[in-house]
Amino acid sequence: MKIDDRQIEQVNGRIKALITAGSFYGKKLEEAGVGEIKTAEDFEKLPFSEKNDLRDAYPLGLMTAPEEEIVRIHSSSGTTGLPVIIPYTAKDVDDWAVMFKRCYEFAGITNTDRIQITPGYGLWTAGIGFQAGAEKLGAMVIPMGPGNTDKQLQMMMDMKSTVLCATSSYALLLAEEIEKRGIKDKICLKKGVIGSERWGEKMRKRISTELGIELYDIYGLTEIYGPGIGINCKYDTGIHYWDDYLYLEIIDPETGKNVPDGEWGEIVITTLVKEGAPLIRYRTHDLSRIIPGECPCGCSYPRIDVIQGRTDDMMKIKGVNVFPKQIEEVLKSFSELSSEYQIRISHLDGRDTMRIYVETTGEYDFDALSKKIAESVKSKIGFTPIVKVVELGLLPRSEKKTKRVIDERYS
Ligand code: ZN
Repeated sequence: MKIDDRQIEQVNGRIKALITAGSFYGKKLEEAGVGEIKTAEDFEKLPFSEKNDLRDAYPLGLMTAPEEEIVRIHSSSGTTGLPVIIPYTAKDVDDWAVMFKRCYEFAGITNTDRIQITPGYGLWTAGIGFQAGAEKLGAMVIPMGPGNTDKQLQMMMDMKSTVLCATSSYALLLAEEIEKRGIKDKICLKKGVIGSERWGEKMRKRISTELGIELYDIYGLTEIYGPGIGINCKYDTGIHYWDDYLYLEIIDPETGKNVPDGEWGEIVITTLVKEGAPLIRYRTHDLSRIIPGECPCGCSYPRIDVIQGRTDDMMKIKGVNVFPKQIEEVLKSFSELSSEYQIRISHLDGRDTMRIYVETTGEYDFDALSKKIAESVKSKIGFTPIVKVVELGLLPRSEKKTKRVIDERYS
């Protein structure tokens, strides 16, 4: 899926705007001496942009259009440190609604549908994106926002909602409540549009069976408009994305090189027409692949596969978000240890447990060392792991990147 001439033209327009605005990316380009690209090869040499760049631009450093043209900001969650603020022009807001309308259309939703929106409104891009697209489509919006399940179900029955927009977990909760209350015959839902959250096939089946509805996965991220930049069609062969607004690449997250279509890697997105905060080669850290060939639906929008997780492999343990890198940093501070380690997460007796295996030479007291490491990890991530010190050479090694984190909870 090489970038085509029209897209290159659009990228050049964004490059110019970014340089004029003197944003972080404009400066990156100036440093690299790039003012324009001519070929796909030129494009692949452009520097990436990263979430950290966006954070560093807090609060309004990403603003690329003149302030009088900015009509709104959105913000992505700041799980670590500062949030990211994304400014939108009126055109950006409208473009996003056009894309979202297209998502509904791909799901076979029309202006006679009644769309109940349960994702949150506010700084988040969720609720308002679902709403703008639905209004553009001409459907009737029931803007509930999250929570308040009693009222949610009451409105669903009284308004005869036909479409549910929700996160997968909330859709499941509603499905269970409907079952529990025995009100399924009063529910008119036909379709669910489920926001991008990781959800397995099992959960999907449960929601769709319990509610008796067709499900559609919507993809998107706040940095790139929000949800609505792609969705699966009724043939369910992957997520179609809108290449008239976005250019997607799949790269090897280790080398940064583009991988051939069909191979797995990290999704990198370039916004082709965004004004308020254009992004060039933005690393999403979402794992997917381009699906080669044509979809039976016959449309020409390319497809990516269902998101397989995050390149940075975040782990949620005892309710705490943990990154392998955090553990690695702690281990690195111990000169007694080799560079090899393995993290195993399991669920025993109703509790998550993290075991860390590390290697050392026989010159140290294994017990004292493991205690020291456990304390150090606790001070970093907030809970105490079980640390097992083993002899040098015992942990697995391979030529390719060794799998260091093994999550046994879901296997
Ligand atoms: Zn299709």
